[in-house]
Amino acid sequence: MKLSSKSKPYMIPEYSLTGDLLSYLTCGLQYRYQNKGTLPPSMPVQLWFGEFIHGVMEEAYLEWESKKTEFPWDWKKDIRPIEDIIDRRLQVRGLYPPANHFFTINHPDSELTIDDLNEYDHKKLASARAEKAINVWGADLFPLMDSAEVLIKGLRDMPYTKNDKRSKYYGINGVIDVLSLVNIKDDNKIVRYLKENKEFNKLAEKYGDDEYEIIIDYKGMKRPPNDVKGSNNENWDYHERQILTYSWLRQKQEDKKPIAGIIFYLNELVPSIEDLKLIKDDIHYHLTDVGDSKEYEKDIELIENWQDDDEMPKLSEKFKIDRSIRIIPIDDDKINEALEKFDDVVEKIETSIIKEINGSKIQDAWSAEGEERTCSACDFKTFCKNNKNKTKDFTIP
Ligand code: SF4
Repeated sequence: MKLSSKSKPYMIPEYSLTGDLLSYLTCGLQYRYQNKGTLPPSMPVQLWFGEFIHGVMEEAYLEWESKKTEFPWDWKKDIRPIEDIIDRRLQVRGLYPPANHFFTINHPDSELTIDDLNEYDHKKLASARAEKAINVWGADLFPLMDSAEVLIKGLRDMPYTKNDKRSKYYGINGVIDVLSLVNIKDDNKIVRYLKENKEFNKLAEKYGDDEYEIIIDYKGMKRPPNDVKGSNNENWDYHERQILTYSWLRQKQEDKKPIAGIIFYLNELVPSIEDLKLIKDDIHYHLTDVGDSKEYEKDIELIENWQDDDEMPKLSEKFKIDRSIRIIPIDDDKINEALEKFDDVVEKIETSIIKEINGSKIQDAWSAEGEERTCSACDFKTFCKNNKNKTKDFTIP
């Protein structure tokens, strides 16, 4: 009698838009150690703040939905309790606020007031940003919100890889921070920004409706540099591709057709010293689409004259708010281009995985191309052959 053999397990590799693809683009080898290995990353400030501000905005929306508290919200009465809830939730997951960026729950100072929040004291940076994000954008954003934290998934053909394919398809997934329904006739600050965008107006004219779905994403970072002439920063391009891919997944999953995405770069509302140094460079080298023109003359002068150890300059609200919002119009050609780019990244990751399965050493199978700044904060710099800041030779394990 012939015994039947067990069929091979069938698996479809899953790639997350932020966890895998962006992480791989930062550095392939770092991605391998962090995402495919068992080594948890240390918690840089930016990662903690990203988690914190997403949690604060979601909780603030739920609070607003149930109580409809008028804006502006009082920091101590309305916002501080939300910060505490999120801080506790993050601590349960082992994520502790970086020292010097946040009042911890058991802070001895019980008489905090809104005056404690300022741009010069980094112990309050996360709180100052939470207060601005809610009072600058929440008032106009919350009434437009349809749903928050929406999980989306889809399947794509596995791209060609030089070696064997592990599967015919790969899964792509992501979480949309906010889906909003926008009526372009509404008197709303966000609608006004949308209508100032020429490409958005063309799309709205083409479809001829009043109401559109808009994808919204919060980023706990400054606006990335971008060259209006075309040679853009990887993060800038990636953020656009992320919105375009979300839009493709929405079409597949719900037959919805968002016509634009909005990214809020929330650090711009209260930049840190590090952020301001980078903004200064972006303006100096004309690597920004907002903040480099005559209308911001006074802000440019303040930034150009500012030195690292000076007090933070008093930038105009317009400068900070304009830099904190980015509109990304969505059309089918751009979606296809974005998906092809994602296929390219998946092909590279799959090629490295297959090389490793076939016996290559980790450092031979994965490309190690972190930028100098990435290498200096990398947990694996002591044994990475390509560490850009390497000062000593280490034996590679
Ligand atoms: S040290 Fe630099 S090149 Fe090496 S893994 Fe880390 S980020 Fe990548």
